[in-house]
Amino acid sequence: MSINLDILPLKEWLDIKEFPLVISGPCSAESEEQVLITARKISKIPNVKIFRAGIWKPRTRPGLFEGVGIKGLQWLKKVKKETGLLTAVEVALPEHVDIALNNDVDILWIGARTVVNPFSLQDLASVLKGVDIPVMIKNPVNPDLNLWIGALERINLSGIKRLVAIHRGFYFFDKTPYRNAPMWEIPIELKRLIPNLPVICDPSHICGEQDLLLEISQKALDLEMNGLMIESHYDPDNALTDPQQQITPENLSRLISSLIIRKEKGNIDFESKLEELRTEIDKIDAELINILSRRMGLIDEIGKYKRDHNITILQLKRWSKIVQDRLKTGLDSGLKKEFLQKLLEIVHIESIQRQTEIYSKENNRNESQV
Ligand code: PEP
Ligand code: MN
Repeated sequence: MSINLDILPLKEWLDIKEFPLVISGPCSAESEEQVLITARKISKIPNVKIFRAGIWKPRTRPGLFEGVGIKGLQWLKKVKKETGLLTAVEVALPEHVDIALNNDVDILWIGARTVVNPFSLQDLASVLKGVDIPVMIKNPVNPDLNLWIGALERINLSGIKRLVAIHRGFYFFDKTPYRNAPMWEIPIELKRLIPNLPVICDPSHICGEQDLLLEISQKALDLEMNGLMIESHYDPDNALTDPQQQITPENLSRLISSLIIRKEKGNIDFESKLEELRTEIDKIDAELINILSRRMGLIDEIGKYKRDHNITILQLKRWSKIVQDRLKTGLDSGLKKEFLQKLLEIVHIESIQRQTEIYSKENNRNESQV
């Protein structure tokens, strides 16, 4: 299954000579000086094509710095004139779009807090109808792929073809080393469903701090993301928003030079070896599916047997023994504990679910007989 969106490839509207494309600039525009010093420095890095700066900042609590507003757009005009960089700002309300368009902003992006709300997205889609401007859509704060896809669809339906998704990580209830858990499987599934959609990774908002930026940027490239959005500030320690995660233009340049650019395709020998390994994986996957289906067949049989003998579905003792036993076998075979636990859990949930269905069929039969 794939989803059809009418999207222009990135290279048709952006002059990208260096890979990866980098979007950079401060979290927030704070002063003309801060914007211009930062822009002049990062414009010297060949990968940087787009200058980002938040003008209206969504803040969790009132009373914090909420952005400089419209006057910041004059500074961005200067950035464009002096450095040739394209400019990008976050829009959350229809009036932001109007103001940005009237002030020659080149690219709009919609932030993670706005994407969670389909009403907001519809309002933005309405005001963008008939407007020809690139729009980048961040993932929603919560790990909900459909919400992200819905936002992309709404904006695409309003006629925006220069559309980009930005992966900025997700809220996760448990502790992780990241400010927002990357959950790579979500942007990968997005790319699978909408193969022509450019996806850019925002390591700054994933990491929340400087030290992890290189690792996440590299991973994004290894997963074939189309570019990176990284926050930069000429004086990060004194930034008014996100000070821990912004990096100096010098460090940005160093980070980009440290990235390893891997090829998507190799030479013929490499390709045939890869093909051989992939064929082997296809075979094993087919076996895995067959084995799972046989396991579920036995589960159904046990389910019927337990039902006919009036025994409860969940046999906790037996399950604890299975977990212990399978964990040991799996660990001995070199599999990771966390992976094994997750795998056993989903197999168990499905097994219980199937047996519940068998029991409820019986209940329905009995009810229809009375
Ligand atoms: C930002 O880019 O500064 C920002 C507010 O990001 P997000 O919407 O991803 O939190
Ligand atoms: Mn930020």
